[in-house]
Amino acid sequence: MLSYDVFEWGKPLKKAERETPKPTGTEVLLRLKYCGVCHSDVHIRDGYFELGGGKRFHMSERGMNPPVTLGHEPYGTVIAAGPEAGDVPIGADRLVYPWMGCGTCARCREGMDNYCMAPRCIGLQRPGGYADHLLVPHPRYLIDASGIDPVWAATLSCSGLATYSAVSKLNPIPREEWVAVIGAGGLGLTSIAMLRAMGHERIVAVDIDPSKLDAAEAAGATATLDGRDPEAPKKLRQITGGPIYGAVDLVGTTDTASLALSALRKGGRLILVGLYGGEIPVSVVATIQRALTIQGSHLGTVAELKNVVALARQGKLQPIPIQKRPLSEVSRTLDELKAGAILGRVVVEN
Ligand SMILES: [Zn+2]
Ligand SMILES: [Zn+2]
Repeated sequence: MLSYDVFEWGKPLKKAERETPKPTGTEVLLRLKYCGVCHSDVHIRDGYFELGGGKRFHMSERGMNPPVTLGHEPYGTVIAAGPEAGDVPIGADRLVYPWMGCGTCARCREGMDNYCMAPRCIGLQRPGGYADHLLVPHPRYLIDASGIDPVWAATLSCSGLATYSAVSKLNPIPREEWVAVIGAGGLGLTSIAMLRAMGHERIVAVDIDPSKLDAAEAAGATATLDGRDPEAPKKLRQITGGPIYGAVDLVGTTDTASLALSALRKGGRLILVGLYGGEIPVSVVATIQRALTIQGSHLGTVAELKNVVALARQGKLQPIPIQKRPLSEVSRTLDELKAGAILGRVVVEN
């Protein structure tokens, strides 16, 4: 099999050839067709994430040491399975849920892999999708995405899943309640699309870039607000007619999280997704008396990814613009993503 691997953090990916693995136990082998190229792989290739305030999170702390194969949005054809894999659809195309845990702890057994304390994710701790073959530890991580464009399906397992899981954490929330979406980049626009798909009609998008606010409106935001406005908290209340029940912060600076928290009513929920690295003071008394929930949301579960695919299949999610490129161009694609030179999404294909 061939793959494009990180041999040294911060350097271009290099082609590697090794023997194609044979599935053992419950493992399943796929011949890959596509893999979405996620912006987070730019940081992972560099070997660290900036956490803000000069702090960095190194991939080696997550059990990753080169050579590693990145790529966590794989889609391919099932071609072989280990003797304990059970009934496996050999020859069928499947989307792969990449965020698997250890597979044996209580959280993993109940399908909450993304809450596992010993993650073994595809494209992180396990070899990923910038390759022509992929070993998946168990068939329960394979998702039937038939009925939607497979190239688009590949991209649902990261930003699609993460935003679906985040906005789902606002529930239970009446569909006529206002929701604030802070940040109108890729994740923000997908969040707006998810809220729309789930029947929400009152969505206010906040960003500091007017062109992103236009995009938010096009994606279905009911109202927009320039976050640079010093009166933004007041204006947000004017738009929504008072404090609101839910806010999702896709940015994660001190300013965005503070704005979102200050907008909440009694019983309100703030869902934190953006990893910018901000910090906010939280009043214990106010949190109690206002019965607030501040919840982090990281990726999502297999069941949630199936729900995302179902929404896509029902035509409730608008596909995003996608360019296909050969797998051999994956390293150049990461360079272009880093330079901000890519509109929409790139999916590499074999
Ligand atoms: Zn990703
Ligand atoms: Zn586990």
